[in-house]
Amino acid sequence: MLEVFVDFDGTITDVDTFDALVRAVAGDAAWDAIDGPLLAGELTLREALERQAAAVRLSRAETLEFMLTHARVDPAFAPFVAAVRAHGGAIRVVSSGIATVIHDALARAGIEIDVIANDVDFAPAGWTMTFVDPSDNGHDKAAHVRAARERGDRTVYIGDGISDFLAAVEADERYAKTGRALEAYCRERNIPCTSFTSFAEIERALFR
Ligand SMILES: [Mg+2]
Repeated sequence: MLEVFVDFDGTITDVDTFDALVRAVAGDAAWDAIDGPLLAGELTLREALERQAAAVRLSRAETLEFMLTHARVDPAFAPFVAAVRAHGGAIRVVSSGIATVIHDALARAGIEIDVIANDVDFAPAGWTMTFVDPSDNGHDKAAHVRAARERGDRTVYIGDGISDFLAAVEADERYAKTGRALEAYCRERNIPCTSFTSFAEIERALFR
């Protein structure tokens, strides 16, 4: 059976909603002070997310309103989900982002799909993260892919960023958003990967 795992931020949406939120609320300098050490490997993704979340002081309602303009779902994603299912496959979203935001954005796009993601406590003094598991990423996406492979499934991973590196390597086939960190990661390591900008391209590649 085909099992497709999809990142949310920057993959299903055109921007990383958590990045956009932290930049808008806490400022670019606050963002860069966390993102620099993350990219340099001095912070784990888990630590970076905790620091970013602590810098955000928005209510749940304010956050969802912000996302109305920032979390734009690729219009080709709903047809892609339908195509995977029509071919007998399974598809789920695996994210290091905020489950509350993801559920809201996908519901607005009329998409029903399983979502495994971190979440936040919308505390007025700064958010605290709720992680999926104790891993350095806060959500060990690679574990889901590994479990599917152990079930004998053909696995496909679709992503864009740091949180996708290990899961993408674990999959039988991988798709990386053009111009983002996952694409560079695969190129530098000679890991076969197909670049994409829209889910329509992945649909054609998988089911042509
Ligand atoms: Mg992403």
